[in-house]
Amino acid sequence: TVRVRFAPSPTGHLHIGSVRTALFNFLFARHHGGEFILRLEDTDTNRNVAGADVQFLDGFRWLGIKWDEGFDVGGPYAPYRCMERLDIYRQYVDRLLATGKAYPCFCTDADLAAERELAEREGKVPRYSGHCLHLSEAERKARMASGEPFSIRFTVEPGRELVVHDMIRGDVSFQSDDIGDFVIVKSNGIPTYNFQVVIDDVEMRITHVIRAEEHLSNTPRQLLVYEAFGFDPPVFAHLPIVLDEQRKKLSKRDPHVLPISTYESLGYLPEALINFLALLGWSPGGEQELFTVDELCQLFDLDRVGKSGAVFDVEKLNWMANQYFKALPIAQAAQMVGDQLERAGIELPPHASGAWLEDVVSLYQDGMRCAHDFIELSKTFFQRQVEWDDEAQTLLRDPSARSVVEAYLAYSRASEGDWTPESSRERFKRVQAELGVKGRQLFMPVRAALTGELHGPDLQKTIALLSREIVIERLSAALA
Ligand code: GLU
Repeated sequence: TVRVRFAPSPTGHLHIGSVRTALFNFLFARHHGGEFILRLEDTDTNRNVAGADVQFLDGFRWLGIKWDEGFDVGGPYAPYRCMERLDIYRQYVDRLLATGKAYPCFCTDADLAAERELAEREGKVPRYSGHCLHLSEAERKARMASGEPFSIRFTVEPGRELVVHDMIRGDVSFQSDDIGDFVIVKSNGIPTYNFQVVIDDVEMRITHVIRAEEHLSNTPRQLLVYEAFGFDPPVFAHLPIVLDEQRKKLSKRDPHVLPISTYESLGYLPEALINFLALLGWSPGGEQELFTVDELCQLFDLDRVGKSGAVFDVEKLNWMANQYFKALPIAQAAQMVGDQLERAGIELPPHASGAWLEDVVSLYQDGMRCAHDFIELSKTFFQRQVEWDDEAQTLLRDPSARSVVEAYLAYSRASEGDWTPESSRERFKRVQAELGVKGRQLFMPVRAALTGELHGPDLQKTIALLSREIVIERLSAALA
């Protein structure tokens, strides 16, 4: 069976790029009836951020990305937090030390910095000189016994070509001469990523490693570790990098890209994000762009993942989010909007009863990407005072516009029956009969006076939902 993993380091927010990687693993597993594993690569202890692990889990839960084994639920290859696996790594390190495929290195940070500086001055690729490779066994033992700090390096055979067979990129070759003996265990006893990841992928029976392109250059080191133990490497697939609109590597600080938890709190629909992210570097071919998660699971495979960078197109995300939001049943949209209002501390007006909020939401739903958009769009329903924009002010200085507002106001004061879109339409008919104006000349002055703007949703519904009292108040204020 296919077994894949997503192995984040808990160093910060769950970000779009990581979710894309996780999603491709998830879809691949589902497509092949395989298993998806969440492993926490927390060995870079200085960079760990408290709470990041929980945030990942919450983010995936919200998105509907489900895992079969992981650092919260465990599984047959537990533990799934690397820092709880140190004993396992140690056994493997001992095997390499015993066979001379690894050795202790006593070089200090200062020694190594000097070496790097020298290489740079000579215009060479900096790599470890192999100084400690040549120490005698007796010296090693003595220095280790004396308590001198040491790291452990992997012995890299020079002069070899190392070829990564990648499902997406084809064969990519590297030279072992460019690598140099690399550290597999730091002086604090904790293994480095390039070693830990191999041991864990082997122990956890991972069949396909699907990860970000930035790890491609790590892969030759990992291949050497597989080889040293005689393990078969998994299939590798390095996903194309995510670019911003300037075709630069998408930065975590790009203002257009929000942490997943922010999309959640703004009331985006997770299905929209999943759909958008699935198309970030993959396409099933054809014109269709909207896919349910089930469809994605059916269609997704690695053979249609592209090599070239995938551009994070904010307009497309907005479009897609809108497609999903406007398709929501009104009750659900109103409920999500209700949550946003509550968070923002905005109360419904006193006349709001029954289906009022649903009716107001339905005025705006077609233009919304997320529930939070409502707050900006619907201000006119929640503010007591109107602010008239320049266009509205200009229009309201026009005498014929003023007489329309005056007439509509008079009919509103005189109205006694239900305050509905139909009764509003009746009042407009009377104004039209009285003043002989119609169309824009009839409606625009009232809209401007009521909402302060010349654009907005259906006027008769807006009037009905604002209430008679507020309409009278605002029209009078506009004329004052
Ligand atoms: N911890 C690594 C990262 O967050 C995982 C890389 C891999 O999938 O091998 O980038």
